[in-house]
Amino acid sequence: MTELARLIACHECAAIYRRTAIAPNATANCQRCDAMLYRHIPDSLNRSLALYITALILWVIANLFPFLGMKVGGIYHENLLFAAGWALYQNGMGELGLVVFLTSIVFPLITILSMIYLLLPVRLGIAPPQAGRVFQLVRTLEPWNLISVFMLGTLIAIVKLQELATVVPGLSLAALSLLLVVYAMARSQFDSETLWQRIEKVKALDTAVTSIRSDDKILHCHLCDGLQTKGHSCNRCGAAIHHRIEGSIEQTWALLFSAVLMLIPANLFPVMTFKKLGKGAPDTILSGIIYLIEGGLWGLGLIVLFASIIVPIAKLLSLSYLLYSVQKNSNWKPKDRALLYRVTEVIGSWSMVDVFLVGLLSGLVSLGLLANVTPGIGASFFGAAVILTMLAAHQFDPRLIWDRSHHNSAVAL
Ligand SMILES: [Zn+2]
Ligand SMILES: [Zn+2]
Repeated sequence: MTELARLIACHECAAIYRRTAIAPNATANCQRCDAMLYRHIPDSLNRSLALYITALILWVIANLFPFLGMKVGGIYHENLLFAAGWALYQNGMGELGLVVFLTSIVFPLITILSMIYLLLPVRLGIAPPQAGRVFQLVRTLEPWNLISVFMLGTLIAIVKLQELATVVPGLSLAALSLLLVVYAMARSQFDSETLWQRIEKVKALDTAVTSIRSDDKILHCHLCDGLQTKGHSCNRCGAAIHHRIEGSIEQTWALLFSAVLMLIPANLFPVMTFKKLGKGAPDTILSGIIYLIEGGLWGLGLIVLFASIIVPIAKLLSLSYLLYSVQKNSNWKPKDRALLYRVTEVIGSWSMVDVFLVGLLSGLVSLGLLANVTPGIGASFFGAAVILTMLAAHQFDPRLIWDRSHHNSAVAL
């Protein structure tokens, strides 16, 4: 018999471990698949609260002050951060503008506010109402906060525009760069287990010790990592709880096929038209890369090639392979396949860089006859393909890799 509250399930392979005290700043990793189980972060809640409040201040500065300015001859043109999404909307590509607006501005704000909503009351000894739902929201939005990808798009835009004009970085750009760092630090300092323990303590919840036997089926919540032995929704955060993601294989395949269908028009139709002094032809993803390389911007060309062509193809291939291997009950190197999945999940969102670039250039370069950038419909298809592959990666349940292989010694109590 073991106490359920002292156990932890690996979120990638579902192996069960008993929590033990580890040294400050040390991490405990899964013996089976190498995924991180938990960390010991000293003073986690206070540190992350301070960082999230700083992030909120930086977000406000980033959105109120000028982002980038362009000087050509006597003309000076300045933009706010939301210009990228707005330019797409004005050019009749509202859906793509909305994606840019949500992932670079709105989702980060909701995440930051939600975290402050959870952390501040706990600090004052109050349990925040609906904490479970708010935490669910944070976990759902986290993969769609793409400030870092947006920043890469901005850097590429700045280099690309050097040939055209003097680019003047604004206060907003500095704030956004700092926000990126502070937000990453806030996330790394936050330990959800500590938060939940504190909330339960504040609520003086009857944390009756649930004892389990080794043959009990343990259900693991994907969102908050809570464990329980029965029920259909998580006792802690309220999310639907399943032994494994239902229909994972079929839905991942369906999303992958849709992504392939979107990638075809994404590569055939132009993603943008860059006109200098009234001259310039529409560019597809590939011709845009060739243009960059021929223009001597090797580094940029390679980054865009990697993000827009190599990453999407690699992602489609690796997810297809993972699905195939799971369906065939493959026994081959589950640890390597788990690593492949982890890499696939992380690199996926970087493909959005081209979409941000198109939005940024359209927003920044509106100097009348001198220079103009208009987005093309290919960018919308490409954005849809990237979103579909990201959804596919989230829908795939990596625990299937282990369920079906013979390396299945799930309980290591
Ligand atoms: Zn594991
Ligand atoms: Zn939960």
